[in-house]
Amino acid sequence: MTSPLLPSPADTLTALQAIVGADACRTEPDDVAGFVTDYRGLYRGSAHVVVLPADTDQVSRVMAWCHEHGVPVVPQGGNTSLMGGAVPDDTGTAVLVNLRRLNRVLAVDTTNDTLTVQAGVTLHGARMAAEQAGRLFPLRIGSEGSCQIGGNLATNAGGTAVLRYGNMRDLVLGLEAVLPDGRVFSSLRGLRKDNTGYDLKQLFVGSEGTLGIITAAVLKLMPQPRATAVAFVAVADPAAAVALLGLAKARSGQAVTAFELISGTALRLVLDYLGDVASPLAGTPGWMVLIELSGGDDSLQQTLVDVLEAGMEDGLVQDAAIAASLSDAERFWRIREEISDAQTRTGGSIKCDVSVPLSRIADFIAEATRQTLAIEPHARMVIYGHMGDGNVHFNPLRPADVPGKEFLARSYAAISHAVDGLAHAEHGSVSAEHGIGVAKRDDLLLYKSAVELDMMRAIKAALDPQGLLNPGKLLPPA
Ligand SMILES: Cc1cc2nc3c(=O)[nH]c(=O)nc-3n(C[C@H](O)[C@H](O)[C@H](O)COP(=O)(O)OP(=O)(O)OC[C@H]3O[C@@H](n4cnc5c(N)ncnc54)[C@H](O)[C@@H]3O)c2cc1C
Repeated sequence: MTSPLLPSPADTLTALQAIVGADACRTEPDDVAGFVTDYRGLYRGSAHVVVLPADTDQVSRVMAWCHEHGVPVVPQGGNTSLMGGAVPDDTGTAVLVNLRRLNRVLAVDTTNDTLTVQAGVTLHGARMAAEQAGRLFPLRIGSEGSCQIGGNLATNAGGTAVLRYGNMRDLVLGLEAVLPDGRVFSSLRGLRKDNTGYDLKQLFVGSEGTLGIITAAVLKLMPQPRATAVAFVAVADPAAAVALLGLAKARSGQAVTAFELISGTALRLVLDYLGDVASPLAGTPGWMVLIELSGGDDSLQQTLVDVLEAGMEDGLVQDAAIAASLSDAERFWRIREEISDAQTRTGGSIKCDVSVPLSRIADFIAEATRQTLAIEPHARMVIYGHMGDGNVHFNPLRPADVPGKEFLARSYAAISHAVDGLAHAEHGSVSAEHGIGVAKRDDLLLYKSAVELDMMRAIKAALDPQGLLNPGKLLPPA
């Protein structure tokens, strides 16, 4: 359905083809389907046309035309959002702008330790460009082959190395974005100090495509660690995991790079899904952590051994496997990183991506589990996440004999409400790293203060007074 106020579909297509070229406009249902359905197949929308601009100038002209004619625009990167943020609604009025053709590495400066990329470079591409220059770009998430730097910025992505390096917000020094009216904001400078007023680039980080289309960024590079040590460790419970993290920090200084919690149920699920991958540990312990230390010190492996021995003496560590080779380390990480896909393929997973202060994490998991099982006694407790930074993916899975749709229909609302409410009560966040999209949009009314919501709406109104950019996402209706 098209609003009578909008230009006709034919006029829109002609205008956009004149800007980006006919080959870069997709309208055939088969060509468009992959863009208007999200990664998990949970959100399906429709777009009047999918546009694939080649550079910032084309993005700017597309935006200016849409602004002038009141046409909604949905920005999209790798379409790996778990929150339905990158697909349009089902009205069919939107122009979907996918950034995949803005895929050039623009500059690597090993003196300034910066990497300048267009927004459509995949995270994997950015990491490889850094590696080829002998540097590290430390953002590490399971979707790195598909997700794009623009999407990582728009969602303020987190992942497994936040504990050491921070999330995407901490890794950006400069940014270029096209505003809803087509003007180009640029701060593509690699400055670590710039106190000249509001840090405007940060407005776009975590804005989920509602304030502008990010077209390029200057990213921080880090030294490549000379040594890495990885272990898969069985612990009695989450409280023991928290204590072990404290011990690892105390013994290794700044070396703890990742500290991932994995429940026994999550391990069983992922091993069944992978089929040919051996568990690092005998049996299936109730709880495990994947620890990675990294740094410039060749004695790191010994430091890890010391940490684990001290953990055993303190009764925190029940069993441990230290990676003896790169392939061991990759196997340990593969097990961790495939949990998300194992859930997606199994279907019927209630994804609660929460964070709480580390000091409250063990009690939070215990109480959230108790409340979940009171609602769904046979739910499988797939619990894992970046515990080192307080982030838990608390993702109860349907009982083996209950279809996913039935489980979600009867229990999604009750369980996610209970878990989010507990996280909020612990002064935590109901979305630690996945963002809001449409999935959690209306929940913001419960968890953000009136002042916060007013400020967010004021910023949106200032930059996008017509509400044309990614409508229906992130901001709950007033
Ligand atoms: C297997 C798997 C594992 C994951 N693990 C993690 C994890 O550990 N940590 C984590 O944080 N996330 C994780 N995610 C979620 C997801 O990959 C991230 O949110 C990622 O940053 C999204 O990037 P994208 O390019 O796919 O963005 P998209 O999904 O295309 O878009 C996400 C949002 O950003 C907006 N957007 C995209 N590009 C732009 C742009 N150039 N300018 C303006 N707005 C834009 C979209 O409109 C949308 O609102 C995972 C997803 C999967 C499938």
